[in-house]
Amino acid sequence: MHIHGGGGADTMDATPDALRTICRTHARHGTTCLLLTTMTQSRDAITAALAGARMAFEGGPGFCADGARVLGIHLEGPYLSPKKPGAQPAEWIRDYDPGEFGGWLETSGGAMKLLTMAPEQPGGGALIAAARENGIVVSLGHTDATAEPTRTALEAGATHGTHLFNQMRPFHHRNDSVVNVLLFDARARVELICDGHHLAPEVARLVLQAKGDRGVILITDAMAGADAGDGEYRLGGLRVRVENGRATLDDGTLAGSVLTLDRAAANVRAWTGADWPTLARLVSTNAADQMGWPHKGRIQVGTDADFVFVDDELRVHATFVEGRCVYRSGRPLSG
Ligand SMILES: [Zn+2]
Repeated sequence: MHIHGGGGADTMDATPDALRTICRTHARHGTTCLLLTTMTQSRDAITAALAGARMAFEGGPGFCADGARVLGIHLEGPYLSPKKPGAQPAEWIRDYDPGEFGGWLETSGGAMKLLTMAPEQPGGGALIAAARENGIVVSLGHTDATAEPTRTALEAGATHGTHLFNQMRPFHHRNDSVVNVLLFDARARVELICDGHHLAPEVARLVLQAKGDRGVILITDAMAGADAGDGEYRLGGLRVRVENGRATLDDGTLAGSVLTLDRAAANVRAWTGADWPTLARLVSTNAADQMGWPHKGRIQVGTDADFVFVDDELRVHATFVEGRCVYRSGRPLSG
């Protein structure tokens, strides 16, 4: 649901080569399909990214025969809270502009499936309405919302929380924040980045208890450095340093992750003791249900044959997308 890049490539690069690199990188780690995720940037840069991602989306399974399938676009920003930019460049965060958003819907040609926005910002209500009219799942994120605008957004059809806790008005026992509402309102599912840097293990346990194992979606929020080693990368025009599995801006702000979905599942299993059916829901079924895709996220007669072979350590041995093997590790399968 939330992948900016991997293997050295970024969605904002917008070239077929870059997007295929992202698809291949994440297929090696058990992702069968994904939403290419944009960054807060200039209108032109986002337009270019949407055009590139649309081409990948419309290419269907043929776009990348040895990678994950692109099932659409996650527009993260630019209509966010300037108080919660995280690694989204603050100078490009802006209020909802119907003309700009309408242009992007046109450029996307139906590929835009998920939107992260801050509901308390000017025009937030109109933006939720425009997105819902176009069948886009609305997620609250990079937001300083208190309880009231959060509840209003859920009434208006928002159903999702982008990387819960990270870049949100924090949970507080005397003060209702967006986190307080998302944690306990059954209308919303929430994303978690379980890389060991964004959340403490006990917080992941708390969220699973509060939301249940159908209300949580493990994401990566991966940037270009995922599966590409330590070094310097760019994310939305900013310099990011990756060191020991931690991606940060120059000022130390976490800048996405280098997490892959196989490691996310392994971490959550280690932190919570989750069993196989629960892990499968957290990395696939819940995301498919959230997007309204009953043919995805489950192994059943009549659904797409998307599945992954893993061993007991959750290392990926093979990845199948719609019945085609797109990745095989070549390691002997044991256990
Ligand atoms: Zn992101």
